[in-house]
Amino acid sequence: MTLRHHLLFALLLSLSSLTATAQDSIPDIDQWQILKGEAAKDPFAHKNQFTINFKQYTEGKDWAYPLPGGKVISPYGGKRHHGGTDIKTCPNDTIRAAFPGHVTLSAPHYGYGNAIIIRHANGLETLYSHQSKNLCKKGDWVWAGQPIGLTGRTGRATTEHLHFETRVNGKSFDSARLFDHANHCLWPYLFVFTKQGSGVKITYEK
Ligand SMILES: [Zn+2]
Repeated sequence: MTLRHHLLFALLLSLSSLTATAQDSIPDIDQWQILKGEAAKDPFAHKNQFTINFKQYTEGKDWAYPLPGGKVISPYGGKRHHGGTDIKTCPNDTIRAAFPGHVTLSAPHYGYGNAIIIRHANGLETLYSHQSKNLCKKGDWVWAGQPIGLTGRTGRATTEHLHFETRVNGKSFDSARLFDHANHCLWPYLFVFTKQGSGVKITYEK
């Protein structure tokens, strides 16, 4: 082989390894079909309980922290009945999808500013708001860790941050039940979500 052939070969090798790495985190067609079927369902359509086992979740495939390196500046609840968890890094930082799923809203939405809602196959929904820019559109299918928006202060926000909500059945609950925000990971527990009236009761087994 000539030097040019060697260089071409090396380039092809590096390209194929890049492609393999990128594909590792993207589900194959069959997985997408399962995901699409599950994400379209109401988790309480046929029963009043469902489970999510985070012990079996792999980072980068099944989940990702929505704002890597972020610090919680305002938790859920409190006196102002905050419906989400405010996480801060810097302006225009990359926000990532927490789980694989279907984008059901990507638009300005009242005080939320530029908002995104993703419906996940595990029965949860996540909401991301105040983005300076949304990088996905309604109808998109996203994988865990896919960049979906940039942090901003659109809507009712006094600083650039991510307002992050975890929801079941359209109702938000404290994302700290599922995420260990200090360590940017999931609690490795088996969670049980039980329908109670219009709300949901969350219990877990270690
Ligand atoms: Zn907030």
